[in-house]
Amino acid sequence: MSEPERVKVVVIGAGQAGLSVAYYLRRFELVADEDFVMLDRAPGPGGAWQHRWSSLRLGTAHRVNDLPGMSELGLSFDTADRSLPAKEVVADYYGRFEEHFDLRVRRPMNVRSVVNDGPDLRVTSEDLSPQPVEDLKARGFFGRRRRTFEVPETPAAPRHEIVTRFLVNATGTWGSPFVPYYPGMGEFAGRHLHTSDYVAAEDFRDQHVVVVGGGTSAIGFMLELEDVAAGLTWVSRRPIDWLDRQELDLEGASAAVALQDEAARSGRALPSVVSGTGVPKSRRIAAGIERGLLVARPMFHRIEADRVVWHGDMAGMARADAIIWATGFRPELRHLAPLKLREKAGGVTVGQGAAWNDPRIFLAGYGPQASTIGANRAGRMIARQIMAML
Ligand code: FAD
Repeated sequence: MSEPERVKVVVIGAGQAGLSVAYYLRRFELVADEDFVMLDRAPGPGGAWQHRWSSLRLGTAHRVNDLPGMSELGLSFDTADRSLPAKEVVADYYGRFEEHFDLRVRRPMNVRSVVNDGPDLRVTSEDLSPQPVEDLKARGFFGRRRRTFEVPETPAAPRHEIVTRFLVNATGTWGSPFVPYYPGMGEFAGRHLHTSDYVAAEDFRDQHVVVVGGGTSAIGFMLELEDVAAGLTWVSRRPIDWLDRQELDLEGASAAVALQDEAARSGRALPSVVSGTGVPKSRRIAAGIERGLLVARPMFHRIEADRVVWHGDMAGMARADAIIWATGFRPELRHLAPLKLREKAGGVTVGQGAAWNDPRIFLAGYGPQASTIGANRAGRMIARQIMAML
């Protein structure tokens, strides 16, 4: 491997949080690709939005806030075409934003690890672009025997190293889906899917589907599958906290943000967002409740080959060809493991976007910042702190 590149700041992730940080770093006159480098694993712009299902539209769940500086391009998510899939609109707007502000995101670059390098940090990433076959031959990848204990990885992916003074981790949660364990999971003969695997309702035509989860994704799946599935069961660990209004008001959202902030500041695992906000009843949702579709049963006790089963007072079963786990995500922090930031309480101690145990590290979009508006706030807050230390 050649000599590592040296920069002031590396930003991992080019979703709303990473782009927002980059925008403010540029406003402080740092130069992209010289002073700071952005790395993103995905093939194109759009952050996690590019991977979401096609029927998801902007504004179906919550408001999607504009990136700072987006008005300079004459763009706003508020006036975007809502007949188009959110994944297309967001990818298009983020792409134009990156170009306009000349952010030079390097992709598809997957960061595998961040380690200490004296007073600095060494970021190792792999280039996920397809490699020409000749390169692979020259590097002896064909005809080589793999030992069973070798870490499975793409042999073709060339490594790159960057040494940096500051790191902004803005990797979101999409790559770290969470599925809780329930007895019998392994015996299920049907399909287990997580929100991140969902493509289209049509994939479930004439099937019996169980949707697990008490948030807006689970509700969205129930509404989409109603006319397609042969049978539909909704279960949630907690009773749904329906709000008697159509949208989340600022008060509800700020209470949830405060809960997230409290957990982040004390290094605890982050609570589920919906447990802090409740679920607003849009007209579509209210109608779904009214016609008996959106009535969640308590969580089942076990899973069998073709059904989920309740015991005791609730004894019963529901047939299942597929179980959709809309059970949320966890922050994607695997590559930071060598830095040992994780506390015994299960989280990383973070306040104002800064990791309290390491002044070189910032987590953008973490905890109270895990929304498009929070990500924008993170950008300004983190860029200011970095500039003060440079
Ligand atoms: P992401 O958009 O996930 O971006 C992270 C980026 O980091 C990705 O591009 C990824 O490729 C990259 N990355 C990850 N790991 C690595 C690595 N190791 N190396 C290199 N790159 C890496 N919020 C709202 O405000 N309004 C909504 O309507 C809304 N709807 C949502 C709907 C769903 C289904 C979900 C799951 C979330 C929704 N959210 C919504 C929350 C939303 O995800 C955040 O608000 C915001 O988009 C997250 O931005 P981010 O930059 O933190 O993360």
